Amino acid sequence: MGYKISDVISYLEQIAPPSYQESYDNATLITGDRTAEVRGIVCSLDCIESTVEEAIELGANMIVAHHPIVFKGLKSLTGKNYVERTIIKAIKNDIAIYAIHTNLDHVPHGVNRRISDRLGLLDCKILQPKRQLLSKLVFYVPEPEKDKVLQAVYAAGAGKIGEYADCSFQVKGMGTFTPSAKANPTIGESGKAQEEQEIRVEVLVSNHVLPKVLQEMRAAHSYEEVAYYVQSLENENQEVGAGMIGMLAQEMEGEGFLDYLKAKMNLQVIKHTQVLSRKIKKVAVCGGAGIFLLGDAKRAGADVFVTADVKYHEFFDADGSLILCDIGHYESEIFTKELLWELLSQNFPNIALYLTKVVTNPTSYR
Ligand SMILES: [Zn+2]
Repeated sequence: MGYKISDVISYLEQIAPPSYQESYDNATLITGDRTAEVRGIVCSLDCIESTVEEAIELGANMIVAHHPIVFKGLKSLTGKNYVERTIIKAIKNDIAIYAIHTNLDHVPHGVNRRISDRLGLLDCKILQPKRQLLSKLVFYVPEPEKDKVLQAVYAAGAGKIGEYADCSFQVKGMGTFTPSAKANPTIGESGKAQEEQEIRVEVLVSNHVLPKVLQEMRAAHSYEEVAYYVQSLENENQEVGAGMIGMLAQEMEGEGFLDYLKAKMNLQVIKHTQVLSRKIKKVAVCGGAGIFLLGDAKRAGADVFVTADVKYHEFFDADGSLILCDIGHYESEIFTKELLWELLSQNFPNIALYLTKVVTNPTSYR
């Protein structure tokens, strides 16, 4: 039996949870039937009319694109602009369009990791980690079944901190309860006050896996009513956020780095601020429009910040503390289609996968 569109979506959402996207974004299934069988997938940076035509010619019925073709609500669908024409063509031809956008920017093996890898950066870290993505789960469990419940919540994704798995804090104490006449207690009797040796367990949980963790905790726990609470945390999640920073294996002169950047990213041109006299070692990157990270790049001690869509006055903000490079939005993210292709091929070796050949860059140089 073949895979459904929903199987591909579930897999991609494990890699880049939709809750990691920015509020303005529209990373989701934009057209198509989740229950349809996948006949082939085209991986692309953008999805425009010519991308849909390419999918039709290839016999593929799904396009996985980084940029969503639809950002704002469409009030009519008549084909008066390229967005509407793309959507109409996709619907008429049963093509599913799935966008995986800022959620893929924000994961440690996403768009910015791809740029960092092309530049050979080592010791890569998220440049601006996100907050409010984590919760603390506290639950109480009789000692003999503690390990069983813990294994269940770990398997559902709880207890991960950076490179450490199975993280918990545990303390022994006394739980008390009186079951009502209608209760069906595992331990104790209705109407009788009960004391029980319990373990209080604390684990860290990413919010997007919290419903599953709670479900598995309840399933593994023998109590009719499990005592637990969830607290949302302000902590940064070091594994999720915008931009990336890493080190070159060997330091370079400023001019030499610009040549290197040009070669590694297949660039015709780099728009940059004054080349500094100091050596380049620490490099910050952000695919697409990343100027909002300039402060983070400076604070992190970057020698260069590579991004795109930088405006004239924003170049002044580099202010001699780093070399600010605008390499073009398309050029900075074009390798994302290969990332998508590789991610999909790892899990769906039997689905026909295509890298788009359509050049969607709306700008050119001469
Ligand atoms: Zn982009």
